[in-house]
Amino acid sequence: MRRLVVMVAAFFFAVAVGGVASAADTLEAVKKKGVLVAGVKDSTPGFGFVDEKTREIVGYDVDFVKAIARKLGVKLELKPVTSASRMPQLTEGNIDIIAATMTRTPERAKQIDFSNTYFFTGQKFIVKKGTVRSLADLDGKRIGTAKGSTSEQNARKALPKATILSFDDYPQALLALHQGKVFAVTTDESILANLLSKAPNRDRYEIPDIQISDEPYGLGVRKGDRNFVAFVNRTLVEMEKSGEAKKIFNKWFGPASQAPLKRNFTITAGK
Ligand code: GLU
Repeated sequence: MRRLVVMVAAFFFAVAVGGVASAADTLEAVKKKGVLVAGVKDSTPGFGFVDEKTREIVGYDVDFVKAIARKLGVKLELKPVTSASRMPQLTEGNIDIIAATMTRTPERAKQIDFSNTYFFTGQKFIVKKGTVRSLADLDGKRIGTAKGSTSEQNARKALPKATILSFDDYPQALLALHQGKVFAVTTDESILANLLSKAPNRDRYEIPDIQISDEPYGLGVRKGDRNFVAFVNRTLVEMEKSGEAKKIFNKWFGPASQAPLKRNFTITAGK
């Protein structure tokens, strides 16, 4: 009888411990290892790019993961990812969180989980001044964008006759535009505005008021990583309440920035 009690107790103990250990619990794992590894862009001005002076990766996305690491009391390690590599890097366990201009979509949410929306924008185009008045002017043309992005998918749908050329990142797509290899570059307006503001011959280009999608950004975590996503969401809402989120927005996109944007969102629990 005593043996049975011991066995039953051992069984429940194993279930309890195993239950905690087997579910992806990045929150506990990060606290234990003392470092949060974030996948960020390194060539997307405004969000994740290399600062010319310090040679460090900086930007809106970086400031959000910095705040999360600070709240966890751990160090932050940044790993560059591309639009195409960010989800595999997360699911393979090479990074703990994606903070890389990533739109929350139902399709992606089948593979990973997202935080609440922490940035909101929409997809537009950069073209040579005066060449595009409506979406119809873009159809049948060569359009540059990045591999693995929603921009690629949305452009295919909106412009069925266009040839979509996908590059590893947006600066490469912009280079193709300068070289006359594509007629337009398409992605989120927030990215285009920043890219254009840094381009040497920016006076020759414009972003017409043609929007083909809404792009709410979420931070990506592994599927079913419930404690971690709850912690991330709590942190985001606190950052909104304290004014820190708005401060970060203004630092990168405010009136004094190179490509000012309107903050047309607030970070809201459950959204
Ligand atoms: N936000 C879009 C996406 O998640 C475009 C920007 C990007 O490629 O990161 O795909």
